Amino acid sequence: MILLISDLHLIDARPDITRAFLDLLGGRARAAEALYILGDFFEVWIGDDAMTPYQLSICQALRELSDSGTQVFLMHGNRDFMLGQAFCKAAGATLLKDPSVVDFYGEPVLLMHGDSLCTRDEAYMRMRRYLRNPLSLWILRHLPLRTRRKLARKLRNESRAQTRMKANDIVDVTPDEVPRVMQEHGVRTLVHGHTHRPAIHKLQIGEQAAKRIVLGDWDRQGWALQVDEQGFQLAAFDFVPTQLALPGSP
Ligand code: MN
Repeated sequence: MILLISDLHLIDARPDITRAFLDLLGGRARAAEALYILGDFFEVWIGDDAMTPYQLSICQALRELSDSGTQVFLMHGNRDFMLGQAFCKAAGATLLKDPSVVDFYGEPVLLMHGDSLCTRDEAYMRMRRYLRNPLSLWILRHLPLRTRRKLARKLRNESRAQTRMKANDIVDVTPDEVPRVMQEHGVRTLVHGHTHRPAIHKLQIGEQAAKRIVLGDWDRQGWALQVDEQGFQLAAFDFVPTQLALPGSP
């Protein structure tokens, strides 16, 4: 069995999401051959050299899983594209490039974060091209921490403000881009996250039936895609309510 998740947006201000993820690591993920995390695993990542104690604890939890025998694969999202080899090495994870074709029980499956499918958002695509080129990445990695923190805050604020302003269809995938990229990679199944619109879309590519599986984000509930010989199962699960400490209670 293989598990795929994305868009957890892990941050220490969300102990409920963190708890749910740690529960998954100690539970279902232990029984899996592999865990794929398709981007926006962390809400923000300014460099492997600037890991917070919280991020380090997540790294160690992943390490425990990989040491237990479950392979861990990580793909960059738009929030954590600075996640690097040092983190992956420490976590016992393998960094996957976006896009990647993997073999799941004999079927080639295309994995992406999903932001590169939203081609109608031209301003974002321009910024993405700029931020992801090797020279920009090198410069970003060598900026002082203070400057990187400031920059990350600015990018997050802009992304939030612009997502609110943009038309709904602009922040979703471009319909024509999906069959194009699937044909380019010779697959009939695509799995991605990013849009926070979990669904299994049935498609027709030429004469062939195909599907696009969109993973959900972890905000009010968790989402995981389970793959086995029987096929693909996308399901949400509730977060365990955190114990509320009432004033005056022990
Ligand atoms: Mn994203």
